[in-house]
Amino acid sequence: MSEGIAKKEEKPRKFQAIRGTRDLLPPETALWNRVEQTAHEVFATFGFGETRTPIFEQADLFARAVGGETDIVSKEMYTFVDRLEKLPDPPTLGDYGAFIEQAEKLMATEELPAVPGNRLAIERMKRIWDQGNVLGTAGESPIEKVDSAVLEELYKMVVLKDSMELGQSISLRPEATASICRAYIEHGMQQLSQPVKLYYMGPMFRRERPQKGRYRQFYQIGAEVLGGSDAPAIDAEVIEMVMTFFDRLELQGVQLDINSIGDRNCRPKYVELLRAELLKVKDKLGPDSQRRIETNPLRVLDSKLESEQGIIATLPRIADHLCEECAAHYAAVKHQLEMRGVIYRENWRLVRGLDYYMRTTFEITAQGLGSQNAVCGGGRYDGLVELLGGPPTKGIGFAIGEDRLILSLQESTSSLSASGKAPAQQGRDVYIAWMGERAHATAIRAAKDLRKAGFSVELPPVEQKFGKALGQADKLGAKYALILGDNEVSEGLWTLKTLADGSQQKLTEPDLLTFLKREKAKADPSLRSG
Ligand code: ATP
Ligand code: MG
Repeated sequence: MSEGIAKKEEKPRKFQAIRGTRDLLPPETALWNRVEQTAHEVFATFGFGETRTPIFEQADLFARAVGGETDIVSKEMYTFVDRLEKLPDPPTLGDYGAFIEQAEKLMATEELPAVPGNRLAIERMKRIWDQGNVLGTAGESPIEKVDSAVLEELYKMVVLKDSMELGQSISLRPEATASICRAYIEHGMQQLSQPVKLYYMGPMFRRERPQKGRYRQFYQIGAEVLGGSDAPAIDAEVIEMVMTFFDRLELQGVQLDINSIGDRNCRPKYVELLRAELLKVKDKLGPDSQRRIETNPLRVLDSKLESEQGIIATLPRIADHLCEECAAHYAAVKHQLEMRGVIYRENWRLVRGLDYYMRTTFEITAQGLGSQNAVCGGGRYDGLVELLGGPPTKGIGFAIGEDRLILSLQESTSSLSASGKAPAQQGRDVYIAWMGERAHATAIRAAKDLRKAGFSVELPPVEQKFGKALGQADKLGAKYALILGDNEVSEGLWTLKTLADGSQQKLTEPDLLTFLKREKAKADPSLRSG
């Protein structure tokens, strides 16, 4: 008996999507597509081009860009070692040369991480190996002169005991700004006409506590403007673009908050002042805020703790401590927003805890999301490209939480439908009810032609009685049933039943297409001109 049969008794294991991840299914995915399509359209009108960067990158990229002290990097990243398979196995006496050579080659292509520890280990082995080779005299195997015991010891120490990093440390991306900046540098985009305007959409990964509007795999739609100047009009236009996008989607209860957090010049002084003031009231703060006095005082301003609100209201505000340039920039951004008719609220407590953020920061909230109501966060990050080894480069961008955006849209559509407006039905245009072999062949051809003309067609794979077929058509929410039996096929006159009112008509094949196209144009006026 084969193993498969022997195990038959065991109940097969049921699999589930991993906690914090979820399946997006129809009909909901139609809304996701509409949102994404709208982003493509709106962002293109602002001159942004789509970028698709890898879903995993070197862990160091995020550690550097997002910051080792942030929650994202310190506890939320999915990081693993991509183990290298190509290094020769424990070298037996004699092939250390090959081992060293290959290790060097792999380090040059970054397959073996070119970290100082690895470099040092290989250099030490090489030194001993080379010494042995020099000592070797003609006719004598160099091996005999190599202190093989030392080499072996060294090998065991650095390679086997894992003090060498045999593979790259890789992370699933928790956000995309770092990747976009990496790509900007890697592809020499500073040579292009500046600024370079890029956008992206796709999954991000953070190991957070899952709840409504917070997932471990979630989706962001974002954009970045890199290079060129830091003209306030750029900040304003980026914000205008997000607001236009939300407006096009008819997102409800949109609220834009803005702030300026200064720059390297003025922020450190403000942070020190804030820290000093916080120390005076330390006893009245909760443990999180107490810790942040040391690590990141700005984050205290973020606190949602009821008991801390009164104290926070009395703290010094950054707006009063901006340097002249930052104050002027902030005033100009606000003016530029007004010129664009973008309504904003100033929120002095809106901060980004990361060092590279500077000047303009903004956040957009929407309705129906409970406490996870931020649908978009963004800001200026002029130092980031340089921090990643590129030239000094201005930068500003935002990231929209697509999951939350969709949740909010769904909330408002369901309230709309409650007040009488039906949500878009996801059904078929035409259900083809066929009976008989000849009719089947005609049905296949009809389906092909109708689909080519852009209609959604359901063609049942097996023959069924007309009554049953019409029932199916109803269930699928089809608008029409095309009835094809022997009579219809031989007469060349097809029966089309309008399911909403049960009316029937006989049409020739070309008339059918004309009729359906006309009806579709009536339902969707935008198609009429085309
Ligand atoms: P939050 O304060 O809600 O944790 P954040 O500051 O961590 O947000 P950003 O890193 O600025 O968020 O990301 C931008 C947007 O991405 C957020 O405004 C939010 O809409 C969305 N987002 C962030 N984390 C998640 C998540 N775990 N699940 C779903 N959406 C998320
Ligand atoms: Mg977060």
